[in-house]
Order: sequence, then C-alpha cells, then structure tokens
Amino acid sequence: MKYWRKPLDLDQVTIPHGEVLIIDDRCKGCGFCVEYCPKDVLVMSTRFNKKGYHPPEVVQTGLCVNCNLCEMICPDFAIFSVAIPDDVKAGLNDEQESSESPAEQEEKEETR
Ligand code: SF4
Ligand code: SF4
Repeated sequence: MKYWRKPLDLDQVTIPHGEVLIIDDRCKGCGFCVEYCPKDVLVMSTRFNKKGYHPPEVVQTGLCVNCNLCEMICPDFAIFSVAIPDDVKAGLNDEQESSESPAEQEEKEETR
C-alpha cells in the first residue's frame, strides 16, 4: 500500500513489528488476509493443506506492523500476529550478524 502523503507526526511515531503465524490446516484459501494486508506481507502459497486449499505464506518478513487485520478478518482463525518488542528485534538482528562467518563479516566491512 502506498500513502499519498506522509503523516505530519511521522517522526514521533514508533512503528510496531509483528510476526505472522499461520495454522495451515485451518485455512480455506479464501485469500482475505492476502488481499487486505496493508503491507503486502502475504501471498497465497502453491502448497496444499490437509483440506486441499492453498494457505497463505509470508513473503515480506520484517514488514508486518502487527496491525492484527489478518487475524480479525480470517473467518477460520487460521492466522495470527504477535508483537515483536523492539529490543527482541534488535537482538535478532545482532544474532543474524554474529552468525555470519568471519569472511562474510570482513566482506561486509569492506563494502561499507
Ligand atoms: S498483522 Fe497486519 S501487517 Fe501483519 S500480516 Fe497481518 S494484516 Fe499484514
Ligand atoms: S483469511 Fe484465513 S482462511 Fe482465508 S486465506 Fe487467510 S488464513 Fe486462509
């Protein structure tokens, strides 16, 4: 979703982050969550669940703003979002960086 103007208090707003959890076998493939997610976090997958439907999957990891719209709109209670506190998110980023090999870290440093 693109906004046609910036909110005036954008610099004072902390944007929340969420993690999306999908219970594949509850999904009936209606696509509501994909259609209405304001951040286009989801797409319908090509895999099948036990009912023979295509459940959604997350394609834009890190863009979810935990608005809970997917959770509210899902007729089958198959999708949820949970808040990721900022300190946890920062910790995850640190972990990702420290899991890189020394060569990868060196390469990253060189490109900075
Ligand atoms: S919580 Fe909001 S932003 Fe996150 S996936 Fe659901 S609808 Fe999209
Ligand atoms: S809204 Fe619920 S039932 Fe519909 S596609 Fe999304 S997860 Fe599946």
